[in-house]
Amino acid sequence: MVTRDDIRQLLAIGPNEVLYATVALTTDPAANPRQEYLIRFKNLWRDAVATRSRREQAALRKDHQSIVHLLETRSRDLRRGLVVVSCQARDFWYEAHVQVPVRDQVLLARRPAVGPLLDLLDTYQRYCAVLVDRETARILLIHLGEVEEYTEILSEVPGKHRKGGWQGLSQSRYQRRIEDKVRIHLDAAVEALRDFVRGEEQIERILLAGPVEARSRFKQRLGPSLRRLLKGEFDLEMTAPPDEVRRATLEAVEEVERAEEAGLVQEAITASRKGGPGATGIDDVLAQVQAGNVRRLLVSPHARARGFRCSHCRAPVREAAGQALGRCPYCNQELQPVQHLVQLLMQDAANHGARIDIVEGVPQLEEVGGVAALLRY
Ligand SMILES: [Zn+2]
Repeated sequence: MVTRDDIRQLLAIGPNEVLYATVALTTDPAANPRQEYLIRFKNLWRDAVATRSRREQAALRKDHQSIVHLLETRSRDLRRGLVVVSCQARDFWYEAHVQVPVRDQVLLARRPAVGPLLDLLDTYQRYCAVLVDRETARILLIHLGEVEEYTEILSEVPGKHRKGGWQGLSQSRYQRRIEDKVRIHLDAAVEALRDFVRGEEQIERILLAGPVEARSRFKQRLGPSLRRLLKGEFDLEMTAPPDEVRRATLEAVEEVERAEEAGLVQEAITASRKGGPGATGIDDVLAQVQAGNVRRLLVSPHARARGFRCSHCRAPVREAAGQALGRCPYCNQELQPVQHLVQLLMQDAANHGARIDIVEGVPQLEEVGGVAALLRY
């Protein structure tokens, strides 16, 4: 799990005379069955080192080797996203595997670049899932595709059938007593949730799981501020094994995020059709990125486009335009062919302050070529 503490430690490394390579890569083995990330990495690396001195390039060779070695031989460790910071000259290596896709980039600087990690922490919200029934409650923290148990509340609620010391009570008194216990339990669970949400974890969304009856009673007890954070519900047996809890919880999180992302994609498509602040398709989006007009860039990890890059102003240029003009449309200098126009597009958009969302599993985005944008104006 990537934490703010990782970032603090990386920031504590002061500027050096040697270069640190920071690499972020979408490595999802399911979406990259032929290790396509290796090619994307090598392309980005080549571009990044091209402007460096010979001495720097020589020193970076070992970093390149180590990262290629990781990608080639440790595919079992790979998850959906990877961030590596490498400085072999200083014997430094940091790697984080995350359950979410990340924006491909290679950054070379005299200290670790924490941008990719900050992007991850900022883009992916923290969820908490409450699993609740009549006598137990569990609170889980979900961030970047990891699930961590925060607390468990076990209340003693007698079963529905009388036993032992309850013999003397009449049926109705007995039922009332059970109900009292359940109410106390649910109140305690709501209180624990409130503490957790107000704590330092910065929870922005809540999911609710468990038997329907307990869920609805729990929900009634949430005040307006907690209810506002409630984004979804799902069925789950309280006795489910940890793997099952993890799987069901992550599925619920993905459902919430996919719905939100699908909403953004639809917003971009509709706006673009109506001539409003939206753009779709690589050509249209590229033009808007160049104009510095992209507020939010939505990119499918499967989006691919070839094109050119200006040798002088570094502007990415679409294949057709590059072939037609033969020269950079912005500064009239020579163009170099590139295989990874989408990565350049993302880099440029980020440099202009756009927020970048890697959007997976939204068919409407694939239909417009895997790239869409919400514009500033
Ligand atoms: Zn140019």
